[in-house]
Amino acid sequence: MDVLVTGGLGYVGSHTCIALHQAGYRPVIYDNLSNASIVVLDQLAKICGKRFSFIQADVGDALALRQCFTDFSIEAVLHFAAYKAVGESTAQPLNYYQNNVCHSATLMSEMQNAGVRRLVFSSSATVYGVPQYLPIDENHSKAPTNPYGWSKLMVEQIMRDQCSANADWLAIALRYFNPVGAHPSGLLGENPSGIPNNLMPYVTQTATGHREKLYIYGNDYDTPDGTGVRDYVHVMDLAEGHVQAVDRLFSEQGFHAFNLGTGNGASVLDVLKEFELVTGVSVPYSITHRRPGDVAVSVASPALARQVLEWHAQRDLKTMLGDSWRWQSNYPEGI
Ligand code: UDP
Repeated sequence: MDVLVTGGLGYVGSHTCIALHQAGYRPVIYDNLSNASIVVLDQLAKICGKRFSFIQADVGDALALRQCFTDFSIEAVLHFAAYKAVGESTAQPLNYYQNNVCHSATLMSEMQNAGVRRLVFSSSATVYGVPQYLPIDENHSKAPTNPYGWSKLMVEQIMRDQCSANADWLAIALRYFNPVGAHPSGLLGENPSGIPNNLMPYVTQTATGHREKLYIYGNDYDTPDGTGVRDYVHVMDLAEGHVQAVDRLFSEQGFHAFNLGTGNGASVLDVLKEFELVTGVSVPYSITHRRPGDVAVSVASPALARQVLEWHAQRDLKTMLGDSWRWQSNYPEGI
């Protein structure tokens, strides 16, 4: 069965293509290469023993989408293509709303025209904003604190409305907590361009000597060691969560949203200690001021995904760190 994967050469999208292939689906990758390398397609071929169909186009390009729905027998769409830098979204909100929201509406219109009714959307725990209680379940209030988070919540609302208006639509939003890790082959992983914003690529790039040291954003939070606590989840666990969601699209009705996380929290210092244990490399760091917009703790309740999607994260922090490090050591300059 052909499934369209927008943003299929990006971090979570590319790993999901592997899991889709393993589950017997045929991914058709759709990516404009704005924040991904074409080399990812070669890496996927090495891992899967098969070169996936690839369309270089923008999700805002209705004609290209139309052509794609004509050329392939697409039965479901997994939509990853989006801008994802939180800080940048605050500086350039219109770009984020245009690219993330308007283009998602274009995609859904073209799905409607082509008779494709099944959608899995790459959402984010950012939709919850500042946690009011922990762990965060799907009923937690939604109050994003930046345009990136709003763009994700707005797309969820469009999906919800589309499903209410069309009983034959089935749509699932997956709210990721903190995706980390890499494919265990070491051939594929997170490939950020420029200076990483996220903790894990910054840690591995410091460990290879590409960055002088890690700056820890605050050690005065109300957490056991004062540094921020997050729910890190392995990208291959996320990938498998998407496959479970696609399977579910063929039995479930309407719109549903699920958290994808482990339910366990790790602090920045926990991550550094564990990284040294796993890799034998100690990462130099210094403490600096808090980063604006950061919260002390963010941890998922993954209970609903376990119950309905029959999914739970299986890989622990050691595996996440070991896999990230294998990838970064193999490709210190990225691909
Ligand atoms: N963090 C840090 N230094 C960095 C990047 C991140 O101390 O260079 C901390 C950040 O304050 C947070 C955690 O690492 O507590 C995870 O941050 P990340 O940006 O990876 O994800 P977020 O949860 O903010 O989306």
